[in-house]
Amino acid sequence: MSSDFANRWQTVLTRIRDTEQRFQRPPDSVQLLAVSKTHPATAIAALAAAGQRRFGENYLQEALDKMAELKALNLEWHFIGPIQANKTRSIAEHFSWVHSVDRLKIAERLNAQRPAALPPLNICLEVNIDREPSKHGLDESQITEVAQAAAALPRLRLRGLMAIPAPASDFERQRQPFARLRELRDRLNAAGLALDTLSIGMSDDLEAAIAEGATLVRIGTALFGPRA
Ligand SMILES: *Cc1c(COP(=O)(O)O)cnc(C)c1O
Repeated sequence: MSSDFANRWQTVLTRIRDTEQRFQRPPDSVQLLAVSKTHPATAIAALAAAGQRRFGENYLQEALDKMAELKALNLEWHFIGPIQANKTRSIAEHFSWVHSVDRLKIAERLNAQRPAALPPLNICLEVNIDREPSKHGLDESQITEVAQAAAALPRLRLRGLMAIPAPASDFERQRQPFARLRELRDRLNAAGLALDTLSIGMSDDLEAAIAEGATLVRIGTALFGPRA
């Protein structure tokens, strides 16, 4: 079982490194976030034994349980799921990164609740890049204002943008929303921000995301197998 995890981890890393090369991205410019939602602590421990350090979780209570169980491994935890306002304190206390900040109120609460003993919390703003009514995320028209305000919060470090585009199977189609997110990041940086992170790409579209500048891909199924 643990060699399965090591094999899948190597396969995903090879996909990432090959794609960096193919699209003239610098070697190691794309980080791998292992998305472990619904998978047990034993699976996380097996992947950690292969060498993976960064893990992403969507559901707070499930994440807290696994963190407690795996405390000795000193892993880096990223929150990537929808955020209810009444859960921000626990998120601010337990995570290194939050990728799914989709309104200023959430950023303000995380800033106020980040413990003084911890370094600033790294955040990404989630953008609803395909303007899907059912999806979380800021509209492009709101981004500049929210980004300027979030960047000024002292207990947060605004790192970049995150998006989950509508599924598309064709490579060129997959690239389009990622390209729009990259252009949005470039416009924000031209306006004075210093965003170094594009959190885009999942198991089925990581190559398209890397082609368009992903700095971190969030991979679940390709590492852990299908979710129940
Ligand atoms: C589940 C999830 C992923 C991983 O998706 P896979 O297709 O299993 O790789 C990535 N990002 C977010 C926000 C998720 O919820």
